[in-house]
Amino acid sequence: MAETRVALVTGANRGIGLEIARQLARLGIITVIGARDRAKGEAAAEAMRSEGLEPVVVTLDVAEAHSIATAVAETYDLLGRIDILVNNAGILLERSSQGTEGSALTVAADDVRHTFEVNTIGPLRLMQAIVPEMQAQGYGRVVNLSSGMGQLSDMGGGHTAYRLSKTALNALTRTAAADVGAGNVKINAMCPGWVKTDMGGPGATRTVAEGADTALWLATLGDDGPSGGFFRDRKPIAW
Ligand code: NAP
Repeated sequence: MAETRVALVTGANRGIGLEIARQLARLGIITVIGARDRAKGEAAAEAMRSEGLEPVVVTLDVAEAHSIATAVAETYDLLGRIDILVNNAGILLERSSQGTEGSALTVAADDVRHTFEVNTIGPLRLMQAIVPEMQAQGYGRVVNLSSGMGQLSDMGGGHTAYRLSKTALNALTRTAAADVGAGNVKINAMCPGWVKTDMGGPGATRTVAEGADTALWLATLGDDGPSGGFFRDRKPIAW
């Protein structure tokens, strides 16, 4: 790698996002922890510093356009570039693992709207703010943390707000990749599997390291890597 890369990871104060940030930093990439609560971001950074890493923290609420603009401007002011954008921040308001919650017949429209703001519109706004700069610098990697629950090919009931937001994030991944076209800016979506985090719960089958693995691969793809794809375990999966 010719120059030191800069990565911005949203929702990086805990869960899969923190693990992605930690592992990117271990690769020598300058890593920016986006956290909506600055104190939580600083606590995550402190944990990373204890192992000799030097992350930067920006306050970033992906549901707020102003917060996105401010955080992106702050990052460019401080570091001059963003090479890697990991759209990791996400919410799942419908918690039951049985899929009975968030039925399409009862889900509150406001829950759908808010979930879209965080899981879909946030990544859209961040890509709009950062991808043109990536094109100008001739290098960029965007990783959208999606979910198998957004796969149309395997769509079930329940968790309607979450499912819709991730299906739309998948579509956004493809439209953005198509609009960017061939070149060295690569935009991909991935599913981490079922991961032990606050969202995944204690019964989940994967560690955060396993959940982060495909995101790290996509964040550091070589110039001949794919764009506009959907992956789990570093392999393409159905939309
Ligand atoms: P998590 O443990 O619940 O962490 C979510 C992160 O997103 C937290 O840092 C949270 O910050 C942040 N966040 C929420 N709303 C935000 C906002 N408006 N602005 C900025 N940050 C916000 O979730 P996770 O399991 O690590 O999931 C990470 C990603 O993987 C999500 O996109 C999720 O949909 C996806 N995913 C997870 C699983 C799984 O099994 N865990 C499976 C498939 C996909 P606060 O601490 O401030 O709340």
